[in-house]
Amino acid sequence: MRNNLVPLKAEVFVWRVTRRRLPIRVELDKRGIDLNSVRCPLCDDNIESLDHVFIFCKHALDVWERVYKWWGVGSVTNLSIEEAFRGNISGQLSSLGIKLWQSVEWTCAYLIWWNRNQKVFSNKSWEGPNALLEIQLKSYKWISKRLKRKRIDWIDWLTNPSSCGS
Ligand SMILES: [Zn+2]
Repeated sequence: MRNNLVPLKAEVFVWRVTRRRLPIRVELDKRGIDLNSVRCPLCDDNIESLDHVFIFCKHALDVWERVYKWWGVGSVTNLSIEEAFRGNISGQLSSLGIKLWQSVEWTCAYLIWWNRNQKVFSNKSWEGPNALLEIQLKSYKWISKRLKRKRIDWIDWLTNPSSCGS
């Protein structure tokens, strides 16, 4: 999967996630690395697996719900990692619109992981309302910088993002 509207570091990140090559606790444990805990550092309710941290953790679900609501694209039920990164969307979108949506999904996952690390290494928590704004800002910044021959209005981006691809 490629997407030239996000920086290379985000593309590499998605590549690593979809090939399950992130230093997630349950994977480190399988390789015999001694950890204090294999539980999710965000919720402490479950084992930290890739699917958990990106999709099923209540913190991740809360963030995805906000992102889906912002785009008006239904709900996150039956979401999987592969599904979440593919840029699938219900409704009518132009090819640019689909690419914008995929960029948002990748930004969301990238920031989930970044904030998971903030929690692990600095004990900082990520709250839902801030999370959405951070995703909106970061994706806007990444996309605007890379989109040729089109300018996306910030207010449109916040209020009606799916119209920005038309
Ligand atoms: Zn969790």
